[in-house]
Amino acid sequence: MTPMGLLFKVNSEGLFTSPVNATPVDYAKIYPDPESEKAIMGSVVYCIHHKEGCQWSDELRKLKAHLNTCKHDAVLCAAQCGAMIPRVLMQDHLRYTCPRRRANCEHCGKEFSGSALEEHQGNCGHEPVYCENKCGAKVQRRHTQQHVQQHCSKRLVPCRHCGQRYTQDTVSAHGAMCSRAPVPCPQRCLAAPARDELDAHLRDHCPSGSVLCTYKDAGCRFKGTRQALERHTEESSQQHLALVSALATRQARQLESLRSAVARLSVNYTGALVWRISDWAAKMAEAKCKDGVELVSPAFYTSQYGYKLQASLFLNGNGAGEASHMSVYIKILPGEYDALLRWPFAHTVSFTLFDQSSSPDRACNIVESFVPDPTWKNFQRPSKEPDALGFGFPRFVSHEMLKKRNFVKDDVMFLRVKVDPSKIVAV
Ligand SMILES: [Zn+2]
Ligand SMILES: [Zn+2]
Ligand SMILES: [Zn+2]
Ligand SMILES: [Zn+2]
Ligand SMILES: [Zn+2]
Ligand SMILES: [Zn+2]
Ligand SMILES: [Zn+2]
Repeated sequence: MTPMGLLFKVNSEGLFTSPVNATPVDYAKIYPDPESEKAIMGSVVYCIHHKEGCQWSDELRKLKAHLNTCKHDAVLCAAQCGAMIPRVLMQDHLRYTCPRRRANCEHCGKEFSGSALEEHQGNCGHEPVYCENKCGAKVQRRHTQQHVQQHCSKRLVPCRHCGQRYTQDTVSAHGAMCSRAPVPCPQRCLAAPARDELDAHLRDHCPSGSVLCTYKDAGCRFKGTRQALERHTEESSQQHLALVSALATRQARQLESLRSAVARLSVNYTGALVWRISDWAAKMAEAKCKDGVELVSPAFYTSQYGYKLQASLFLNGNGAGEASHMSVYIKILPGEYDALLRWPFAHTVSFTLFDQSSSPDRACNIVESFVPDPTWKNFQRPSKEPDALGFGFPRFVSHEMLKKRNFVKDDVMFLRVKVDPSKIVAV
């Protein structure tokens, strides 16, 4: 047994030497009482790592040997990083925290030192990451750019018909509705017009569609392809001309019957006519400088199937009233129902010239009437030749009287002609 082996070692001559000056030491001087030394080394102690959890306890002289194996005693890191690590933690240190440990990237498999691996994580090109466009795909970091540009379902691609950009997963749905996408012509011509041009194609361009002749309204019944129509138009100008001319004739006839219908509708069947004479001053001036200027009223009837009458007016007078009076007459015109009527004409006729005074109470109309004399030829049934003569009042109203009251107002005069079936004079 070599006590205090830590402090002394045996030299080549078998003597203990001190590590301080390496001079031989007298054994008897160092251990003056071997018995008491024996007692100390035999005392029972705990391991110096008792507090950290080591349960070892034995004689002091066995402590050194224990420390060589004590799990809690710190030793230099086996990877020589310089750290002192308790034996019990060495495994963990070497695996997880030693900066000199060796480790492999779980994605690319490359080996790194501990500190380099920490930097590598988050940058490894082989690590799968989610696509930043949120398409749901997971691709290795080194392939993300290629994915976004070439494969990602959320990348924007232009519609090949309209050029608008859509995500790759919606562009084909758009194409099914795209207004610029070509669609086959329903008339089965070879054209494939864009969807928004299909109507125009069918209307104006489709060679397979059938079209009507331009002269259809004139009665041409031709129907055929655009091409055939061109030929037809060239070949049928004579026929078309005849159709158009016949159409013009038909329309002229229609116009005529419309005119007479309108005339019938506007005919007065009431037996009373209020005749409005406008531009009075100009008409009077004309009557004064020309001889025999006669104004005639629209024709009117005593009833729907009655006598046809017309009033006549000489502003500058006629016969006895010439140049001093205004003369009025009534004429019996040949009417459609004359054959059924009683002759001679025996109705009372009255003429009223209206005073257009603004206060009606003070208005004073001029009224003249007569009962026809049955012997007068004017009241016999008129011949087809209209009678130039009428019957009436050559001196109906004097020019002087015309000036006194408001018979002419705003250059307009109103003359009423009324026919009464009774023979009593009507006013
Ligand atoms: Zn221990
Ligand atoms: Zn280490
Ligand atoms: Zn890696
Ligand atoms: Zn993607
Ligand atoms: Zn489109
Ligand atoms: Zn077509
Ligand atoms: Zn035609």
